[in-house]
Amino acid sequence: MESPANKTFIDYDSEPVKYCSRCYSLKIKYIEAIHSDCCSVCGCTDTAETTIDKWEKLYEDRYGQKFVQPSGNPRNSPIFKLSISALKGLIFNKMPYKRIARALYPNFPLHLSKADSIVLLFDKISKDNKLDDLRFALINFLKTNKNGRDKEGTSGRNEANKKG
Ligand SMILES: [Zn+2]
Repeated sequence: MESPANKTFIDYDSEPVKYCSRCYSLKIKYIEAIHSDCCSVCGCTDTAETTIDKWEKLYEDRYGQKFVQPSGNPRNSPIFKLSISALKGLIFNKMPYKRIARALYPNFPLHLSKADSIVLLFDKISKDNKLDDLRFALINFLKTNKNGRDKEGTSGRNEANKKG
């Protein structure tokens, strides 16, 4: 059997997120009555699209802090705004997929290829309705691995802020 596996994972890294161009919130809802997207925070109907990376930078430039704050509710994390395909891309491109998979499924098979693993993982997740568990796993992973980005000396961040 042949499978065009390479085609499956296109450049999800650049998967767009929609944000409010006034307050930069990602809480954009489509309001049918006005046939338009609308920001749930400020009510602005002017939205823009960019990648999650660029959005994080925009947000930080504007508000002087990262969107994900240590004491904040994890559900406010941009991770919760990502579509399934964006989550797949994130895991595929930037995460140790085996660790993530094992965090959710301790018996997750490790002999599969990366692409197959991710397909299997999302298959299981959708069957078990565990998408939020996955998101929490990703957030926890990001929290404990702040060195994800290379080269940037971001040592000024406070990591002492742990939940008791
Ligand atoms: Zn807004």
